[in-house]
Amino acid sequence: MDSLKQELPDDHLEYVEAWGRASGSVAHVFRPSTLAELKKTIQLAKDTGRTVGFRGGGNSYGDAFGNRENIVLDTSRLNRITNWDPEAGLITVEPGVTIEQLWRYVLADGWWPPIVTGTAKTTVGGCASMNTHGKNGFNMGTFGDHITEIEMIMANGRKKVCTRDKNSDLFFAAIGGFGMFGCLVSITIQLKKIYSGQLEVTGCSRPNLASVMSWFDENRDGSDYLVGWVDSTARGKSFGRGEMHKARYFEPGEDPAPARSLSLEAQSIPDSILGLIPKSSMWFYMGFFFNNPGMTLVNTGKYVAAKLLSGEKGKTYKQSHTAYHFLLDYVPGWKWGYGRGGLIQYQTFFPKETAENAFAELLKLNQERRMPNYLTVLKRHKPSDFLVSYSPDGYSMAMDFRITDKNREQVARMARSMDEIVVKHSGQFYFAKDSTMRPDLAEATMGKEKVAEVIRLKKKYDPKFFFQTDLWNRIFAPLAK
Ligand SMILES: Cc1cc2nc3c(=O)[nH]c(=O)nc-3n(C[C@H](O)[C@H](O)[C@H](O)COP(=O)(O)OP(=O)(O)OC[C@H]3O[C@@H](n4cnc5c(N)ncnc54)[C@H](O)[C@@H]3O)c2cc1C
Repeated sequence: MDSLKQELPDDHLEYVEAWGRASGSVAHVFRPSTLAELKKTIQLAKDTGRTVGFRGGGNSYGDAFGNRENIVLDTSRLNRITNWDPEAGLITVEPGVTIEQLWRYVLADGWWPPIVTGTAKTTVGGCASMNTHGKNGFNMGTFGDHITEIEMIMANGRKKVCTRDKNSDLFFAAIGGFGMFGCLVSITIQLKKIYSGQLEVTGCSRPNLASVMSWFDENRDGSDYLVGWVDSTARGKSFGRGEMHKARYFEPGEDPAPARSLSLEAQSIPDSILGLIPKSSMWFYMGFFFNNPGMTLVNTGKYVAAKLLSGEKGKTYKQSHTAYHFLLDYVPGWKWGYGRGGLIQYQTFFPKETAENAFAELLKLNQERRMPNYLTVLKRHKPSDFLVSYSPDGYSMAMDFRITDKNREQVARMARSMDEIVVKHSGQFYFAKDSTMRPDLAEATMGKEKVAEVIRLKKKYDPKFFFQTDLWNRIFAPLAK
């Protein structure tokens, strides 16, 4: 397309930064607020020989929504709820509706999004396109499992409606298809019925990695959510120790005042920590700890607190849905604490048979290279039916690494070594978090047949490769030649 490229006015030129701030590229960003404007932008791209990449809330850690020197079509202003059936819990929304907008709209009717991400700032379009997971992946699967219908604007400008039965190859490719098959313009989701605005949460400490891992299957029955945090700095007997949280919904009648707990007020997150430090300035103070000694202190402190307050037996309490799910939104701008270079996340998914050894090898490697990750989160998953699926019957571990001018190369080298561990243990990656994958690694982790199928469907639905992103160009474009 490059040879046909024509000048575009520079009034839409912006630096499109990865959420983790460690990379970015300059693109022409358009923010249509109607379908007609969206189509106009697509036509403008065609007329000027540009490609189009989509952005929702811009919460992918890497380059999934960048489109260097081309057009980024930001769908966040297409944010209307177009149909709501409070009896059935079926909702139809435009792609820019955020998870926050969604839960706020349906809560009083006793519904909740079936899958939520660790931040509520993600959009439904972005969640569908990455097929996101929550802390309930082991029983509720992924976001796409709850979508009943999507409408897309295709590369030829026409609308396509897809369900599990109609245009089903496109349905299963576009959900999880990282924006490469067309623009999602309408999404219908089956929500989850709830009978209280609170969850019953039990937190406990676990002394080592083996007991952290076994906790998930010990607590599967009777839990709706499971999540673990690991102290990545602990060594010796304490290697892999952590804090775990399980939660369950209340049954009908268990909450004596559901109307109250299902109100928006009951879900509001306080705007200061302990009533003292305004949340908006927390990232500044956190910045003092975003280094190896600081994070050793924080990780140790967090584990010791969990051991003292909850112990291995655990402590049970009630928590609002928002407090349980959106912990990261408690501290707005926390990523700024990582400094100028930002952060990358390295999240891997392993089958249950290999996960423990793989996690141990990854954590040990980080410690040996003196580059511990600063936040380690573990989840349990089940397989998914979508074409670009990343979740096996197994576990994932997400690791955050600080990036500085000095360590950028070192982290990149360590990622190469971690990749070898991932391949050895049949691991997979997730494009929403990825910043380091190469084409050969995509084939090694997804399988050559799966990669070929992605490219075959891309050619079927977007033969001129009109939809592109920096991620597509980094990983798939070389394989599609
Ligand atoms: C603090 C934090 C916590 C997170 N926690 C989780 C978690 O618990 N689980 C999880 O799975 N992920 C998690 N994520 C990752 C995040 O959920 C995904 O990256 C999600 O896709 C972001 O949604 P978004 O609306 O910001 O989309 P963007 O990041 O803007 O875009 C994501 C992808 O969707 C495509 N896209 C966006 N809109 C459309 C559209 N209308 N049509 C077609 N394609 C489109 C883009 O091209 C891009 O490839 C987290 C991210 C952050 C920052």
